[in-house]
Amino acid sequence: MSTDTQNYVISPPPQPVLAVAGTDKVFPVRRLWCVGRNYVEHIKEMGQDVREPPFFFAKPADAIVPDGGTVPYPSLTKDMHHEVELVVALKSGGRNIPVARALDCIYGYGVGIDLTRRDLQIASRDIKRPWEIGKAFDHSAPCGALKPAAAIGHPAKGRIVLKVNGKVRQDGDLNQMIWNVPEVISKLSEMVELAPGDIIMTGTPSGVAAIVAGDKIECEVEGVGTLNVTIGPPL
Ligand code: MN
Repeated sequence: MSTDTQNYVISPPPQPVLAVAGTDKVFPVRRLWCVGRNYVEHIKEMGQDVREPPFFFAKPADAIVPDGGTVPYPSLTKDMHHEVELVVALKSGGRNIPVARALDCIYGYGVGIDLTRRDLQIASRDIKRPWEIGKAFDHSAPCGALKPAAAIGHPAKGRIVLKVNGKVRQDGDLNQMIWNVPEVISKLSEMVELAPGDIIMTGTPSGVAAIVAGDKIECEVEGVGTLNVTIGPPL
């Protein structure tokens, strides 16, 4: 449903955006999807069966924190984890997108962190409740500037690394994804209709661990870019 803005009974919320690297342009974010369990070594460290297909969950688009930002340490947790991920931003969508056509939907790529209140996620998982409280909290989706596919192509391999206070914690390669980017887009489009502005965090390599207030997080995906955020005190 659409309506004339003058009919809103409150001011419409701001449109979440991602920067486009090297420009003053921004990419408007519609929805933020995440892939669960997409790197074998991370599945093993979480104690799960590697033969299970990946699945999807979502975060609110307004959980995005830009490059250089500060993430307030969230409430309710004593175990917030980092998960560095390749982010895919869509310029078009559809339902039941064939794998062979999926790359045509991509505007560009960025580096993100799927911040996770691991203690709450696992507590929810263990009693078969939804993951939202563990995954979809405020400031839970730092994401750096996008690089257009028109400029960098479609990276299928390349180092993906996350450091905390200068020390390497996660160090993988995009070629370790169980489901590659076209397969992820195709699968997700069977479940929901994708549309321009949707972004997808494509799963994390092994090495996830806790972070605390004061930590400086540096991420890089080879050929895509960097993302730096600081963990701040609780609000
Ligand atoms: Mn993740």
